[in-house]
Amino acid sequence: MNSFFGGILAFFFPRRCISCGRKPAGQEYSVLCANCADYIRETSASLGNKCVKCSTRLYDAPPGLCFDCADRTFRFGGNTSLLSYKNPVIHELVLSLKFEANREAARDVAMLIEKPFADFMKTAGHDIVTAVPLSRGGMKKRGFNQVHLVLHYLGRDFTPILTRREHDVAQSKLGLNDRRAAVKGQFEAAGNLDTVLHGKRILLIDDIFTTGSTADECTSVLLDNGAASVDILTFFRA
Ligand SMILES: [Zn+2]
Ligand SMILES: [Zn+2]
Repeated sequence: MNSFFGGILAFFFPRRCISCGRKPAGQEYSVLCANCADYIRETSASLGNKCVKCSTRLYDAPPGLCFDCADRTFRFGGNTSLLSYKNPVIHELVLSLKFEANREAARDVAMLIEKPFADFMKTAGHDIVTAVPLSRGGMKKRGFNQVHLVLHYLGRDFTPILTRREHDVAQSKLGLNDRRAAVKGQFEAAGNLDTVLHGKRILLIDDIFTTGSTADECTSVLLDNGAASVDILTFFRA
């Protein structure tokens, strides 16, 4: 459509914010209004006391490990999450990105995490940055890998290392034990990567940290293929 008529259409039928639906979206952000974006920024500024291993919020607990991490032996060093998924606006944004396959939501995610992401990367000091892959079926369904797309908008390169086998059940519908079983054997190294990974400190990026099962399964594959250590960076903490 030519931009003149596009402009007229946008004037009479402005796109609405996917979260509040009241204000027009697409001023600074693509799918959120400025108010909802500000709300995310303000509520994310102080996440309070966090578990040193998985980044979950600790309510009325002393600094240290959450109950889950005290109970489980994750093989990754630690997870850092940039925003909380419990924020209702973020929830809408992630639904749009993952379940409605809205590419423009990825742009907004990138804008929201740009600063904390840059701060993290400045001091992280890993040798290799990689990302959790989708299966071919998952790629076909959504049409894009949401983690790769957000990294693209952040201007961040990564090294593809892992591949993912096909899986039928959406993980979001499973409980903890089923999730662990569902991701077992899901990931493998793309080729013989012993020389690439040997002795390297890896940063693995994913969108949401929920139970840690995906992160831990990927970590095992990387460590078993020679990596020295694996840390996790996730956009959101469920
Ligand atoms: Zn809004
Ligand atoms: Zn924890």
